[in-house]
Amino acid sequence: MVGYHGPGNGSKERGELPVWGLLAMRCPSCCADDDFVVDSRTTSEGRVVRRRRECRGCGKRFTSRERVEEITRLIVKKDRRLQPFSRQKVLDGIVTACQKRPVSIERIEIIVDDVEKRIRDEFDHEVPSVFIGEVVSEHLRDLDPVAYVRFASVYQAFTDVSQFLNELAPLMEKKEITDVR
Ligand SMILES: [Zn+2]
Repeated sequence: MVGYHGPGNGSKERGELPVWGLLAMRCPSCCADDDFVVDSRTTSEGRVVRRRRECRGCGKRFTSRERVEEITRLIVKKDRRLQPFSRQKVLDGIVTACQKRPVSIERIEIIVDDVEKRIRDEFDHEVPSVFIGEVVSEHLRDLDPVAYVRFASVYQAFTDVSQFLNELAPLMEKKEITDVR
């Protein structure tokens, strides 16, 4: 039998890099790296973020698929129980807090990206659940006061009742809460 020199059984392409929404995407048509996100969807249980983008240079639209590298960390809840970190759970929590608020899913994805990045930077194994609550609260405080109070009260990010009331008071005084996008 003549030696068969077929294609090597080398590894298939696995060039999927984690992207934190910070790296510039290049337009496949004109190579400009100036685009904006039109639509953002998380698939595969939150591990792939699919973003529809529009190039500011030529106006063409393209899709980027960004694999969010799975991070394996254990969340330590207040009662000391451990739970594997779940991007989807964090996302769901923020989506709930932002219901009927002018906060786009793209903004929410950016918050979750930041939560993951900071967990990765600061913890090797176990992450206190309050850490996640604090990071998300920080973002929402600037983004939308209503979503912020909803989130922080549900996730008990306030250390005590007086702190909660302190945060609430200025919001109650505002006649109109300006929409922040
Ligand atoms: Zn272009």
